[in-house]
Amino acid sequence: MPLLPGVATLGVMGGGQLGRMFVQAAQSLGYTCLVLDPDAASPAGAVAHEHLRADYLDPAALRELARRCDAITTEFENVPAQALQQLAQSRVVAPGASAVAVCQDRAREKAHFDASGVACAPYAVLRSPADLATVPDSLLPGILKTARLGYDGKGQRRVTDRLQLAEAFSELGEVDCVLEQMLPLALELSVLVVRGADGQVVTYPVQQNLHRDGILAVTEVPAPQVDAALQSQARESAAAIASGLGYVGVLCVEFFVLKDGRLVVNEMAPRPHNSGHYTMNACDLSQFEMQVRAMTGLPLREPRLHSPVVMLNLLGDLWFDAQGVERTPDWAGVLALPGASLHLYGKAQARPGRKMGHLNLIGATAEAARASARQACALLG
Ligand code: ADP
Ligand code: MG
Repeated sequence: MPLLPGVATLGVMGGGQLGRMFVQAAQSLGYTCLVLDPDAASPAGAVAHEHLRADYLDPAALRELARRCDAITTEFENVPAQALQQLAQSRVVAPGASAVAVCQDRAREKAHFDASGVACAPYAVLRSPADLATVPDSLLPGILKTARLGYDGKGQRRVTDRLQLAEAFSELGEVDCVLEQMLPLALELSVLVVRGADGQVVTYPVQQNLHRDGILAVTEVPAPQVDAALQSQARESAAAIASGLGYVGVLCVEFFVLKDGRLVVNEMAPRPHNSGHYTMNACDLSQFEMQVRAMTGLPLREPRLHSPVVMLNLLGDLWFDAQGVERTPDWAGVLALPGASLHLYGKAQARPGRKMGHLNLIGATAEAARASARQACALLG
């Protein structure tokens, strides 16, 4: 029996913008929502029916969440797996602790890609300085990434030779790391895959992503430079990865397309994803409604992209002029553009690099969406 809207209560571990948009989608369906997050200024806490302000491992808060909620999800991948395990003793938890644990560790994540038969970058796992000597020459130049807790390009060092590799490993604190061969990238893609507890899998159209300084800047759908065969391959690979994990919920899988045209999987996030925000205005079902449907056992169905779209990430930098003086971006101008939908996350303090919101620009054609995006960029400076 699905947990029905208007009756059930849903909980979220984490109170950032992803939690906020999840709560908004769940509330619009008619669910009551609780958020657990220690931060008083939580974007999700501000819109939830109730914000439990406590640490993610606080036993009393976890008991309260389990008592009040019929199903619980997470909005950030570093939620302690033991908290999810505790909640799962009495409630539906989606995604589950074991799948999240794989996504939290690049070494386990890569082993899962291998097991799923999806090619990833050649790599080696480094757990101690002694492992440095076993690294094959073929992995250099490469990128050294901490196995845990990296995001937005943090916890990574580009290295060209063994000396730099040893220095980088020491700089990263000799924690468990993965060294990946530096690949010649043509472009970057991601795919949202949604799997229900009954094993049904649906995928969204492929997203083409552009990063600046390690942070997602622009997503475009349909992916302008990816042919149909490669798009199918990416969607099938994402589905295989989710099924192999026994995953329940929305999973985002990131891929590289190499200069020779090959598709290589990079990493995955066990939740709705920044690159999937385009679904809020360009699809008949958003990634957040899909998360609600998957965790409650409501029907999943193939989402339909109804409009070409460009998503622009709005970082805190836009809140400052060239002299560094704080300002409010020209939202009235932006909202006059054809197909523009603004999503701000309710964060009081803008800081360079901080994700403040996003702007979706849909159009009747890809060129129309792109034209609006160009105008938005000019207005936002
Ligand atoms: P994060 O968790 O910070 O998103 P990623 O593993 O996605 O970490 O790496 C961040 C960015 O670095 C990627 O989006 C890509 O541009 C670049 N990158 C990562 N791994 C490789 C690689 N093996 N070869 C070339 N570029 C890479
Ligand atoms: Mg990434």
